[in-house]
This record gives sequence, structure tokens and C-alpha cells, in this order.
Amino acid sequence: MGLLTEGSPLSWEETKVHADHVRKHGVIQFINLYKKLRDRQGDVLKWGDEVEYIIVKFDDENKRVTVSLRAQEMLAELNEKELADPQGVKSLWRPEYGAYMIEGTPGRPYGGLLAHFNIVEANMKYRRTEAAALLGPGEYLMSITNFPRLGCPNFTSPPFDPQPETGVSRSLFFPDEAIYPGHPRFKTLTRNIRMRRGEKVAINLPIFKDVNTKIPVDDSHQKESNALPDHVYLDAMGFGMGCCCLQLTFQACNIAEARTLYDQLTPLCPIMLALSAASPAYRGFLTDVDCRWNVISGSVDCRTPGERGLAPLGPGEKFRITKSRYDSIDSYLSPHNEKYNDIPLTYDKDIYKQLRENDIDHPLAQHIAHLFIRDTVSLFSEKVNQNDEEDTDHFENIQSTNWQTMRFKPPPPRSSIGWRVEFRPCEAQLTDFENAAFVCFVVLLTRVILSYQLNFVMPISKVDENMQKAQKRDACKQGKFWWRKDISTGVTPVEASRHCHLGSCDTDQYEEMTINEIINGKEGTFPGLIALIESYLESMDVDADTHCSIQQYLKLIQRRASGKLLTTASYIREFVTTHPLYKKDSVVSEEINYDLLKAAQAIQSGEMPCPKLLGNSIFTKTKESIPEALRKVLTKECPY
Ligand code: GLU
Ligand code: MG
Repeated sequence: MGLLTEGSPLSWEETKVHADHVRKHGVIQFINLYKKLRDRQGDVLKWGDEVEYIIVKFDDENKRVTVSLRAQEMLAELNEKELADPQGVKSLWRPEYGAYMIEGTPGRPYGGLLAHFNIVEANMKYRRTEAAALLGPGEYLMSITNFPRLGCPNFTSPPFDPQPETGVSRSLFFPDEAIYPGHPRFKTLTRNIRMRRGEKVAINLPIFKDVNTKIPVDDSHQKESNALPDHVYLDAMGFGMGCCCLQLTFQACNIAEARTLYDQLTPLCPIMLALSAASPAYRGFLTDVDCRWNVISGSVDCRTPGERGLAPLGPGEKFRITKSRYDSIDSYLSPHNEKYNDIPLTYDKDIYKQLRENDIDHPLAQHIAHLFIRDTVSLFSEKVNQNDEEDTDHFENIQSTNWQTMRFKPPPPRSSIGWRVEFRPCEAQLTDFENAAFVCFVVLLTRVILSYQLNFVMPISKVDENMQKAQKRDACKQGKFWWRKDISTGVTPVEASRHCHLGSCDTDQYEEMTINEIINGKEGTFPGLIALIESYLESMDVDADTHCSIQQYLKLIQRRASGKLLTTASYIREFVTTHPLYKKDSVVSEEINYDLLKAAQAIQSGEMPCPKLLGNSIFTKTKESIPEALRKVLTKECPY
């Protein structure tokens, strides 16, 4: 979830006092970093994935399933291998927000060979098996986006009562013990976000209204003025940050290419969110949303009422801020895409000026000055005073608590890592096969974008609209999303500006399309992302096994998009609503949840085929490593 500084966290009162200090030095640190690294060239395209997992525990006798608060114990063991051989391990394990969550990445990034696509799934399997070896009786590691009964009574093992009067989140539902205890960052963030906001967070998800659904859905609206009667009310950071996702990071060859990737992948964020939708149930209810996005956004929304526009700005408050720290990005980064930044950006004018005076161009200065409208919400006493020439913790402090759909990452100081971007919208899928398919699809798209110089960029206001549409129930099948028709560039920045003036982009360039049309093509309008990838692959040398796996991955994406296969969210909905014990009341009861997760577990382990979710033949030829023979033949890495 971000920077894990060791040390003693300051209280909110102390942290608040240092807000300007962190900002001031964070900006200086960025400027120093930028000066050293702006001209860095020649890094090769590398990439990697991150999968977050939930540890669940089945109680077969009572037909119950809970989340198991054993992440810290498991991580201690998982990290031992890494400590002994940091360069040699095949996987890296990190804590996440939940005391029942862990996050795994490959030990080393993947590189430019197409054959790398064929080791992603095997590495995911390796990770799952490695962590699974540490599980106790009844426990399973599951890459489910949300535990459907998170926040219901006794949802943890061991069970704990929530602490509405004393806990760091003050939640009616989510006990402090469910927050990862092994690092102070997580509880500190929870407390500080609540204190900065001035009250606890409040998320209201529209209930999925079935024939017997009770409104109000429960008595939370009687206890809390922020709870809406026909909504599922959530009141803790854990409801959002306790969800799992699938993320990707790319290293670009230089800063300009990183900006290109950042911009070009931005319009894909809502599309991939809808396609990967996997979380329709919250706190034991089916809702009318399919994705976690707005839940997390609300769960870390530290804005004061003044900043949210609900009251006059209070003392020390400088801005009205339209979005939470966790949300979609607000501006493109390449100078020629500036005209698509059609929503007025809130940014710190002084910081902007300082960045400009240090020779940082307008879009980048604006981006950084926008990130820096936020206050630090977690500060460690040992880290207050830093050497701005060497350290970057204050910059990272603000950067890593801006959780946006994309993240633009400067190279870490004194490292061999180049400029990178992170792609963050996707929801976690049940199986390694699906997760590998999503990863390979997005990585292939980056190569297609770079080698054909494609242009997916559209006004940021349309991307925002798409983000909201993407989360609606069944958006993957029924939603319509703004999409650019002509994606061939050849369009130089100069030509583009002829079509499109600041704030008044020619709307003929965009059309509302279904996910199916965007992925699989729309006759006469848009070739479809799959066709673009296929044509790229035709021009490349690829070994037979990799080819076979990639085809399986693309087939999954194609069929999810066309509706031939269900999204994970639709599968979960269907499972619940057709369960014999379902009372048509939107409730995911203990026993339904147990059966659902049992089924999900059998699907992820391969014991139970699930043609409606995965199709019939899902046997890829994934391999643990790239065969030696291939390494020799394919020594020339493709430029993209
Ligand atoms: N779990 C968060 C999500 O689902 C992401 C946390 C992180 O930044 O690693 O988006
Ligand atoms: Mg994470």
C-alpha cells in the first residue's frame, strides 16, 4: 500500500504541525531528484505484477467462513527467505492493510522478451503454493477482491468486537484487530485520516433491491446520521483498504516514455475496472455496484467538510478539493496532452511556481503541485529531519498516500531503477490464470501503444465519467463508455491542437461504446484492442508455448468482454441469488458466504471447473522459467 518507514509514529496533533514542513521538503526532494534523473536514458522495458490476497478460514462444522488474522505470522516466515537471499527469491511478500491480507510480487521484474508472458502465471502459482504451505487447518489463501461479510459480527478468526468509542477507526463494525498490527503505518493512517476529516469516514453503497429487500437495510441509520436507509453503510478505512487488487508496474526507457504510458493507460483504467469487476457484496449485502473503487475512495477520504464544499473553509484550509486521495488521476502528463486536462485542477500555486522556477515543465509541475495539496497523514519522529539531497521520504510520504488509478514514479535514489508508472484499477481475480490473463493483456497493450504510437487520450472529464459508469452493476455487459474512435496518431501534437482547443475538444472524436466494442471491435468505427494486439503479435517472433498461453489469455478477455463469460462480480451475484437459502432479500448470509467461498476456493485450485467464468479449456503452457534454448535464440529484446 505504500511506503513502509520504520519508526515511531507521531500523534495527529504533532503530525498536523509538520504538514508544511513535509510539503516544503518533499517538494525540494522532488526537485533534487528530478535534476539528477530527468535525462536518465536507456532503461529497458521491465514490468511486474502485484497480487493482494485474503487469508480465510473455513469452519466446516458450522458452515462459517471468516478472515484469519494471521498475516503477520505468515509474513515473518515468508520474509525470512528474502532476508537470506534478497536477489535469489522467486517472490516477495509485503503486508497490506488487513491483518488478514498479504501481498505478493515476483522476485524480480519481467523483461522485454515475449517469453516472459509465459512465466507470469507459473510465478503466481508458485507464490500461492509458497504462502499456502504456511496455512493452518481450514485456512486458504484467496485472491478475492472483497470478503463479502467483512464487517459482519464475528467476521474474523479469532473474533473481536468493534470499538466504536475507542478504536482507531471508531467503527461500529470493523475492530482494530483486523488492521495489520505488524507496522504502525496502518493504524496511524486510519486514526489520522479520521481526525483530519473531523469525523469517521462514511460510505453508502446503494443496496441491490430484490423483491424482499428490507429498507432500511439494517438499523445503522438509527445509530448514525451519515447512514442512508436504502444503502449499505460502511464506516471504516478497512472496508476499502481491506480489499484486494491486481496492480502492474512498468519501467519506461526514459521520462518521456513514462509520461506517454501514464497518459495512454489512463483511459483504459475504467475499462479494465469494469472488465475485472469482482466485488458486488459488502458487509453481508448484495449492492448495486460491482467494484471496490468508490468504497476505497470513501474509506480514506480525509477531506474536511470545508474542503468537500459542505461548509466554509476552516482555518488553515486552503482548497476546495473535488476528490479523495484515492481516486482517478486528474491530469495528463505529456505536454501535447495538456488540452485534454479539461477539469480545472486544484494545485498549490506556490509549489507550482517553485517547480517552474526549477525548470520543471507545466504539466509535471502542475501534477506535483496537485499531489501536494494533501497533508501528510502519517509521519514518524525519526523521519522529520532529512537531508534533502539524499533522502526522498517526504516526497514519498505525499506521493504514496495519493492512491490514484495511475501513479507516476521517479527512480528511487541510488538505484538502478528507471522512471516507472503503476497501473492500479484492476480488481483481483480468483485464479492465477485470470490474473495472468489481465496482466498479459495490459502489458501487451503497452507494447502495442508504444510500437504503433497509438493515442487513446480523451478529455479527463470523460475518463471520470467512465470511472463512475464502470462500477455500476453489470457495467461490463450493459455499460457504455466514452472511447476515442481514431486512435492512430500519426497525429502530431500540432495537428491534434487543430482539432481540439483547450476546453473544447471536438466531441465527434469520441463515441459511447460497450466494453465488447472496445475490446472486440465495432464495425467501421474501432478495430478493438484484441485485434490490435493480435496484429502486433503477428509481427513478432514468439515461441509456440508462449503463443498458446497468450491466446488463452486473450480468449478469456475477449469472452468476458462479449458477455459469453461472466465477470467475477456477476458470478458472485448469480451464486448468491440462485442459492437455495437466498431469501431474495439481498442478504449474503453466513451459510451462503460459506458456500460461495468454498466454490471460489474449488475454482481457484482447479478442483471445480467453472465454464461460465473461465470457459472450457484453460490449459496454458505456462513455465517456471524461460527455457535456456529460447534465451539463446531470443537474445534480442524487442524495443517495446
Ligand atoms: N488494496 C488497494 C486496492 O485494492 C491498493 C493498495 C495499494 O496501493 O497497494 O486498490
Ligand atoms: Mg498493495
